[in-house]
Amino acid sequence: MPISVEEAQRLVLEHAAALPAEDVPVAEIDGRIAAAPLQARWDLPQRDVSIMDGYAVRSLDVATLRACSSALVLTVRGESAAGHPSDAPLGEGHAARISTGAVLPAGSDAVIAQEDTRREGDRLVIDGDSLGTLEPGTFVRPAGSELREGDVVARVGRRFGPGDIALLAGSGHATVPVHRRPTVAILSTGDELVPVGQRPDPGQVVSSNGLVLAAMVRRAGAIPIDLGQVDDEPERLRAALARGLEHDVLVTSGGISVGDHDLVHAALMALGARVVFRGVALRPGKPTTFAVTDGARAFGLPGNPASSLVAFVLFVHPLLRRLLGVRGDPRSATMRVRLHAPARGAGNRAHYVRARLIDTQPLDGGTEGPLAQPLSVQQSGDPCSIAGADLLLALPPGAGTLPAGSQVDALVLDPSSAEQPEP
Ligand code: AMP
Ligand code: MG
Repeated sequence: MPISVEEAQRLVLEHAAALPAEDVPVAEIDGRIAAAPLQARWDLPQRDVSIMDGYAVRSLDVATLRACSSALVLTVRGESAAGHPSDAPLGEGHAARISTGAVLPAGSDAVIAQEDTRREGDRLVIDGDSLGTLEPGTFVRPAGSELREGDVVARVGRRFGPGDIALLAGSGHATVPVHRRPTVAILSTGDELVPVGQRPDPGQVVSSNGLVLAAMVRRAGAIPIDLGQVDDEPERLRAALARGLEHDVLVTSGGISVGDHDLVHAALMALGARVVFRGVALRPGKPTTFAVTDGARAFGLPGNPASSLVAFVLFVHPLLRRLLGVRGDPRSATMRVRLHAPARGAGNRAHYVRARLIDTQPLDGGTEGPLAQPLSVQQSGDPCSIAGADLLLALPPGAGTLPAGSQVDALVLDPSSAEQPEP
């Protein structure tokens, strides 16, 4: 009896720890995972800066003028422009021209927006009505208000996005330690395969699995290494597998069930790999095999397109996320969906039913939630069913037939969009 999906996932993750760190330029951290905590190297902003184009003033001067004069008039002295701070302290009764992002001159504590003023030569006439009371700090971004030197700007396990580039570059990090990305060798096996671009003769199929798997690997954030295809011939197969085992991960498709031409398992054993499991109580994807060597983890996935996709999502993807340094549960997130039509279990195996997500809006009758339409074709060889699927409905072993309206868990088929929450 093959092992359960959960047990197989547990065994796979026993062979997955985050790969060592490497330093990469901050411009290249999008999608990478922090391998060390990072702290701001200086205050942000470093000095009080203006958030408006206008005039830096002493708020007390304006208050005093308001109390004893009908006109609010200051004398313009000096300028502080972005990148060109003024050295001169601001004297009593003076205003300095200032631009957005520029440092406030010493002595000033507020900014009056240009719209609230009028210039008459050196005289700055302030429109008291639109200005209102000028509080200290008006239109000023104070020094250290965003970050203090030493504040944490990235925790270990953080998956960086474009915004982190701004944060880390701005706080002093030209390079960033991230976990090395695994290389994933991909090998397609089978006498019947022809390369993409070639018209298959009867009995042949275009080898598409490798391309699909490479796309999935890339989405996971790892580096696919295309080993192409190899026929069902023991010597050549073994040589190709040996090259694959030089990488962090090897993923093969085809040749892993029990037919006379299914040679991958024997070839992996001949290469000294230790088989961790062979077969999982799952449909599609039952023959899925996992083996390890000292340096590599190898997945033998079945050749049918849907089988290899399901097995990738369930087993390879979590392993890659762990190697990449993702914290928490690396398995793809599930969502709760309601069946729009009945779905049938697969006896004592877990059935991963390809389905389309047809609604994420609240439904009539007050029941909320996403609705899943199981695709009519569930043949594991059918490429239409994988192209049309958004979800894999996870029907547990012994589920029988679930009627329309049943609630089931579903895996989102774009695993990169189904991130686990940050730790
Ligand atoms: P196997 O797991 O080797 O028995 O292959 C099962 C079926 O999957 C084959 O008969 C092919 O139709 C299909 N198949 C195998 N390898 C590929 C591939 N690389 N691309 C597309 N289909 C494949
Ligand atoms: Mg085959």
